[in-house]
This record gives sequence, C-alpha cells and structure tokens, in this order.
Amino acid sequence: MNPALPALPAAIDLNIDANRSPWLDGAPEPAAARTLPGDVTADVAIIGGGFTGVSTAYHLSERFPDKKIVLLEARQLANGASGRNGGMMLNWINGVDCKDPEGTQRVFKATRGGIDLIEQIIKKHSLKVRYNRDGCLEVCTDNQRAEHAHARAEKLASWGIPVRYLGGEAFRERLTLQGGVGGILDPTAGQLNGVDLIRGMRGVLESRGVEIYEHTPVLSISEGAACSVVTPSGTVRARAIVLGTNGYTPKLGYFKNNVFPLHSHMIATEPLSPEAWARIGWKNIAGFSDDLDRIAYGSLTPSGSLLFGGGSNAAYNYLYGNKTAYPGTPNSAEASFQAIRERLGAYLPDALNLKISHRWTGTLGITMARVCSMGVRGEHKNVYYAVGYSGHGVTLANLAGQVLCDLYSDNHEPWQKLPFYQRNMAYIPPEPLRWVGYQLFTRLTGRSPRKVE
Ligand SMILES: Cc1cc2nc3c(=O)[nH]c(=O)nc-3n(C[C@H](O)[C@H](O)[C@H](O)COP(=O)(O)OP(=O)(O)OC[C@H]3O[C@@H](n4cnc5c(N)ncnc54)[C@H](O)[C@@H]3O)c2cc1C
Repeated sequence: MNPALPALPAAIDLNIDANRSPWLDGAPEPAAARTLPGDVTADVAIIGGGFTGVSTAYHLSERFPDKKIVLLEARQLANGASGRNGGMMLNWINGVDCKDPEGTQRVFKATRGGIDLIEQIIKKHSLKVRYNRDGCLEVCTDNQRAEHAHARAEKLASWGIPVRYLGGEAFRERLTLQGGVGGILDPTAGQLNGVDLIRGMRGVLESRGVEIYEHTPVLSISEGAACSVVTPSGTVRARAIVLGTNGYTPKLGYFKNNVFPLHSHMIATEPLSPEAWARIGWKNIAGFSDDLDRIAYGSLTPSGSLLFGGGSNAAYNYLYGNKTAYPGTPNSAEASFQAIRERLGAYLPDALNLKISHRWTGTLGITMARVCSMGVRGEHKNVYYAVGYSGHGVTLANLAGQVLCDLYSDNHEPWQKLPFYQRNMAYIPPEPLRWVGYQLFTRLTGRSPRKVE
C-alpha cells in the first residue's frame, strides 16, 4: 500500500462486503426464479443469462416465434460480467487494429449498429433502463501518444467516423485527469446499466414464450443432431444450442485452449452531485479509458457514483485451473481494490477522499489476441457461440444475439467480413504452464500476455 494514501474512508453501506455491483441498486426486482423442472425438448437451448444469451433469445424469439427456446442460467440472469461491468457501451472490437478505410468503416458500422440496437430495443419495449449516449473518451497519457491519437482521430474522421481529438481546454472541459494530455472522443458511445436491460428484456422474452430456468447450471453437453444439455434437475434435448457463457465456457469443455477467465475487480464511490464531480475533475463524459496496457477505466452512473477499475496487474487475477468463482470476495481481493483506488487517486486526487460504496469482481473471457469469436461449430453445425470479448462486450455481446440469429437463419453474409466471424482464436497452453506463464509474464513486464495477430 502506498503510505501517502489517506486511510480508506469508511464504507457507506454493506455493499462493500457483498461483492455486489451498483448496477443492482434501483434495478427492477428480479422475477421469481424457476429451475428446470425435469427433462424437456426444445428447438434451441441457450446456456447463460448474460447479454449474449438474452440477446440471442430476443432475436431468435422475434424471428422464429414458433420455435421453442429454453434459456438455462446457473445462478440468476445478469450474474456474470453483464451485471458487473464498467457499463461503457463502446464502439470497436478489442484487439482489432483497423488500418484500411473499408475495414474500419465496416467495424464501426457494426458496433455503432450494436449500440443503436440496444437503444431501439429499450425504446420499442419501453424498458426502464438507465443508459446514456454522452460519449466516451480514450485518454492519452503522454504527448507522443497524444500526437499519434490526434493523427488517428483525423484519419478516422476523414473516413467518415464521427470521432474527434480533444486537447487542451476542450479536453479539460470534459475531464480533468492528472497526467491526461488529451483524448479521442467518441460521441456515439455511452453507458448502460446491464442489470436494468437484462431484467427488462426478460419480460419481453417470457411474453414470447421463452422458457427461462435459473439456478440450473449446465453440467455437460453431448452433441448430436439433437444435443443433450444435462443439468442437475433434468436434461434439455435441443436441435441447436447456444454457448452464451463467455469466460465460463471452458468449464463446459469448449474453447479450453482459446479463452481464459480473468477476474476483474472494480470499486464504486459514494454518489455526488454533478457540481461536486465537476470540482473533482469529472465534467461532461459518460466514461473514459486510458491508453496503457493494463487499461484503467471509469464511468459515472446517473446517480452520481464513479465506477472505476483496471490500471495495474493487481486489478486482475487469473486463478489456477480456469477457476471462475473468485474465492472469499471481496476481502481476498483487498490488494486489488487498494491498487485500483491508488490509480483512481493518481488520476483524480480529490476522489481519494470519497467513500467507497461498492467493490466487486466479475469474470472476463479473454483471448490471446483480445478479439472475440462468433460462429457455429460441431459435426451437425448446431453449436452456436460468441465468446472472448476481452472486457469489451457491453456492445458486442448484445450484438452477438443478432449475429447468432442470422447464422441460425443460415444468413452468414452480413457478418462474414467482420473480424469476429468464426475467428480462430490463438492457442493458450494448458496448466500448469498457463498459470506459471501468466504469473511470470505479468510480474516481469507489468503487462498482460497478448499475441498480436
Ligand atoms: C469488472 C468488469 C468490467 C467490465 N467493463 C466493461 C465495460 O465498461 N465495457 C464493455 O464493453 N465491457 C466491459 N466488461 C465486459 C462485459 O461485461 C462482458 O464482455 C459481457 O458482459 C459478456 O456478456 P456474456 O453474456 O457473454 O457473459 P456473462 O455476462 O459473463 O454471462 C454468462 C452467464 O453464463 C452463466 N453460466 C456460466 N456457466 C454456466 C453453466 N454451466 N450453466 C448455465 N449458466 C452458466 C453465468 O452465471 C453468467 O450469468 C467488463 C467486465 C467486467 C467483469
């Protein structure tokens, strides 16, 4: 711990010990949970009740109202990263360095369409979802990076992408961050409360006849013309299945050497008024991320809490053997929360005096190149998947529902040229090499292991 840091102010409520994300506060009450009552048959069995699973159920049930769709969730909807993230609804695909105008426009159009789609669903069904599109900033932490970012923003703008570089006063009018010298503003990005969205969409799904079973962990899957999806309380026999389990997917036997679960920790401050935030330095922006390898990011909720994460190796943990549950949270992650708070203090020194209202952990699905993959596989071409968003899935995992629904409809064409389409993900060695390699690499370099493709 940095001795210069003031002692942690007292927590303002018990959330600090509850591993509970603030997105749950004020969200619609969860519907009564039903577990799978026994053996059932279905056209499609979706595994996982996060953005990927719920958005896939949404699009399939809209396009194929007569198909029987069953969604199986191990705990409750939004239990995973979708209910525990930083909320930044971003464009672009993590790990994809867009160089040519055509490819860049294609990626931007797809992700912008993903954000628009989230907004359309909210409006179409009058869902009570707290979200905004106030724009997000990619902050540059030194002059050289700022120069590159400036040139990149101008190139993107010349290709018709509506981003712009903010330097000097224009930057500080949005965000006054110590060490931040400028940034690229994407005014089409924003912030989303994932718990609101998923709980709102649940009502839509159920009104269309989608059967949602919670507290129903899938234990194993046998593929075939009809797949068997085994849970403790029954088996679902389905002609197609969807893996909406992101960082948990290797536990089901899929992508064991391509996706690994990384535990990502976050803190939230007590809520402040917009004026109080402006005095601290946070003015007119939904969220920001910095340009360092261990990205730090923050976003301000409508109720005035700053959510903050990343910024160092300590903010993330990989547990031996692909463990997906973080043991004994949050106390066992004390060092992580402390490191996150130190980074927050380095960027917004006055925020250090704020009380911490929540601290929590979520499971990311990381790929070596950081690029996600969406597609269909298996001898019978009936196992649909979208995984490995690598911390960038608020937009992409919601878009995944549309992608997988198109693939299910045998309409691959709209997505074939996108980098995530059926993408082969780089090999990650098995244990014990994986754990040892991760520890050594992160400690020696201060960076996260990554393969540039
Ligand atoms: C701390 C944190 C901050 C983040 N910040 C951002 C951000 O600001 N912007 C951004 O774009 N992305 C962010 N992300 C990433 C983003 O939240 C995820 O990429 C996205 O939510 C993935 O959605 P998903 O539905 O694929 O997976 P998840 O939301 O993880 O859902 C998977 C679901 O599957 C269930 N499940 C697992 N195993 C089984 C099983 N065997 N049987 C049944 N169900 C099972 C889980 O309980 C879970 O509910 C963040 C993630 C974390 C953890």
